[in-house]
Amino acid sequence: MSDRLFHRIENTRDDLITLTQDLIAIPTLNPPGQHYATICDYLDTRLSRSGFDTTWVRAEGAPGDSETHPRWNLIARHEGRHSGACVHFNSHTDVVEVGHGWTHDPFGGAVHDDKIYGRGACDMKGGLATSIVAAEAFIAEHPEYSGAIEISGTADEESGGYGGVAYLAEQGWFDPKRVQHVIIPEPLNKDRICLGHRGGWWAEIETKGEIAHGSMPFLGDCAVRHMGAVLAAFEEQLFPAMASRVTEMPVVPTGARQSTMNINSVHGGQPEQAADYTGLPAHCVPDSCRIVIDRRFLMEEPIEAVRQEIIDLLDEIKSRRAHFEYEIRELNHVIPSMTDKDAPIVSTVHSAICDVLGRDPSYVASPGSYDQKHIDRIGKLGNCIAYGPGILELAHKPDEWIGISDMLDSAKVMARSLERLLLP
Ligand SMILES: [Zn+2]
Repeated sequence: MSDRLFHRIENTRDDLITLTQDLIAIPTLNPPGQHYATICDYLDTRLSRSGFDTTWVRAEGAPGDSETHPRWNLIARHEGRHSGACVHFNSHTDVVEVGHGWTHDPFGGAVHDDKIYGRGACDMKGGLATSIVAAEAFIAEHPEYSGAIEISGTADEESGGYGGVAYLAEQGWFDPKRVQHVIIPEPLNKDRICLGHRGGWWAEIETKGEIAHGSMPFLGDCAVRHMGAVLAAFEEQLFPAMASRVTEMPVVPTGARQSTMNINSVHGGQPEQAADYTGLPAHCVPDSCRIVIDRRFLMEEPIEAVRQEIIDLLDEIKSRRAHFEYEIRELNHVIPSMTDKDAPIVSTVHSAICDVLGRDPSYVASPGSYDQKHIDRIGKLGNCIAYGPGILELAHKPDEWIGISDMLDSAKVMARSLERLLLP
C-alpha cells in the first residue's frame, strides 16, 4: 500500500519544484504584509483543482490589517467518503525581509544541486508545497478514505500570527470538535518532531530623571545612570538566576534550555540626529532612559513569576537608590506550548518517520515561538506538532534554500501519517 503511495510522491518531483517556485515568486513580505490575496488566490486555484472546498477569511481589525494590506487567509478542506478525524496542515504564507548577501534572486526560485533558493524556501513555502503534494497523493491513492484533510495558508506568523492563526482560532477554525490533528510544516528537519516552544515576554522599562545643564549635573537627575543601576542588577542577580533554571523541554540549540533575556534596545537622552547632521549635541542631563527587554521563558516558569521577578528587582533598586523612579510597560507575551509525547499526532508521525527514513526521529522544541501557541491556547487543541522539511538555521538568512529530496521524504512522512490516521 505505502510503496505505491511513495512511488506516486516520487513522481510529483517536477510538480513539487514548480509549486515551490511559484509560491516563492509571490513576494509576501511581512511587514508590511504584501500579496496575501495573491497567494491565497494561487492556493485556491491549486487546491480547488484537487477537489478541496476553499474559504477565504480576512482578519479584519487585526494588527496591520488595512485596505492596502488586508490580512487574507485561505482554508481548504477535502472531505473523505466516510466520517472520521480531520487532519489539518497549517503553513504561514508570509516571509521576512530579504536582507543583504544574496547570490540568487530572492524571488527567482533557482534550482541547483537538489536545492531551491529563495526567501521563504525553507521558512516555509517549501513545507506548504510539501503538505499539498502529500495530501493530493494520499487522496489520489485512497479516494475512499475516512475523515477530512485541511490545508491552510495563513498570514502574519512572522509578526506574531494575530492576523492569521490567532484570528482563525478565535473564529473556531481550530475547535477540537472540527479539527483533531494539526501538523505545522515549519522547517524543523525531516527527521525531527517539534513538540512546542518556549514562552516570551516583551516589555519596555523607563527610568526617569530631571533635565539640567550638563555642566551642573548635580542640579538634575540622570536617567541613564538610573538605568545603569538596572543593568547592573540584571548582570549581578537576574542573569545568574535565569542561567540556573534548566528546562525539561528538548529545546534546540541546547543553549536555549535555560531562561534567557535579550536587551533589545537602549535609548536615553536627546533623540539621535539624522546621519547627515553635522552639529554637536547640546549639554543636557537626560530625563528619560528606556530599554526593551525580550525575556524567553520555560514551561516550568509561570508568566506571573517572570513578570514579578523583574518588578521585584526594580522595586529593590528603588528601595536603596535615591530618586529612582521607573515605569514598566508590557508590549506582548506568548505562553510556552508543549505537546505531550504520547499525543496521537506525535506517535503517528514518529511511526511514519520510521517507515520512510528507517530511523527514530528526535524530539525537539523551539527557542522562539510559532503559531502552535494560538492553536493550543485559543483553539484549545493540544494535539499539534511542527514537522516539515528544511534546515531551521537557514530561516531568515540570505540564500535560504530547501532540499528537494528532503521535501519528497517529508511528503512521504506526511502522506504515510494520513494513511495511519484516516484509513480503517
Ligand atoms: Zn516559519
